[in-house]
Amino acid sequence: MTLLRKLKASGAVVVLAVLALGSVARADSVNTPERQVRQIAPGIYTIRHADPTDDFPDGNTTVVIGEREVLVVDTCYLPSSADADIALIRAWTDKPVRWVLNTHWHNDHVGGNQRYRQAWPGVDVIGHEETRRMITARVPSYVRRFIASDSTFAKQREALRLSAETGVDDKGKSVDPAARATAAASLAKLETARREFSAMVVEAPTVTFESALRIDLGGRVVELKHLGRGNTGGDVVAWLPGERILVAGDLVDHPVPYAFAGYPSEWIGTLERLAALDPLVVVPGHGEVLRGKGYIERVAALIRGIRQQINDLLEKNGGGFALDEVQKAVDLSAARREFAGDDADNLEFFDASMASLIRVLHAELRAR
Ligand SMILES: [Zn+2]
Repeated sequence: MTLLRKLKASGAVVVLAVLALGSVARADSVNTPERQVRQIAPGIYTIRHADPTDDFPDGNTTVVIGEREVLVVDTCYLPSSADADIALIRAWTDKPVRWVLNTHWHNDHVGGNQRYRQAWPGVDVIGHEETRRMITARVPSYVRRFIASDSTFAKQREALRLSAETGVDDKGKSVDPAARATAAASLAKLETARREFSAMVVEAPTVTFESALRIDLGGRVVELKHLGRGNTGGDVVAWLPGERILVAGDLVDHPVPYAFAGYPSEWIGTLERLAALDPLVVVPGHGEVLRGKGYIERVAALIRGIRQQINDLLEKNGGGFALDEVQKAVDLSAARREFAGDDADNLEFFDASMASLIRVLHAELRAR
């Protein structure tokens, strides 16, 4: 049993040491098997959460403690994950959480909003006006579909139940013991999510802004900035000018950029503005805490390069190049190695994410 496991087994809070400058980059994964807490500066913590289901990773949460009050960035996919974070915060400080920031509207960043308000009734949830609008328009309907008994989610649960319980899948094929155990574990996670969603009340930000908001926590200033669209229409980052720490939300995800929707042409400029802040530490929306602006610049270069390739193809063909031809023609081989390495899950995520990126860029460039 390793020391880390012993500490976990004893129920102790595991806080990894403050990031060492110049530490060797470890291979990161799009998967997160277990919760990990990191102190990135005195009074500033990031929490990486175990994947709540096989299909949905969880967003990172950042806790910034001032002399008077606390700001929390992003609140997880499941209320129970937010509850566990709240217990950690209470162990770290007796100062109240006064502000919760939603960096954007996606479920894995806003699911615990209600829990923070219940824990500290004085909490205001802050977000871009577009984030408030999208949470209200999209998140409750997602939760309703997830718990409904006639949805695609219900069909997915039924298929897993069949494999796990009978050893025969929904196509009549037999399932080996290892696959049965995997199906049972996947089903258990989906059932937990369904149970939690049944009791969940989706809460949208109560304080919204369009471009910037400065918050003084007492001896510590946090600047909330909308530096342009990218991952969503209302992406906001938290910038700590004193510490030069940037909490970037899903504008920056590690090790593989999340590009399943959004505004990729504008995303390039937004990333350039993030890099121009010249952060010492970057907390991505998912994945490992990063040092310096290098990764942000690499993501900007990736999107810029793909955009240029599509633009060249369209120009060569008088604007008439179809999407499936573009998907085949864009050369991603170097980028694929650079971002995904040789990890099968990273590679699968990279391929899916880049296929979406190419689709959206193709539509944007054809529409010009
Ligand atoms: Zn996310």
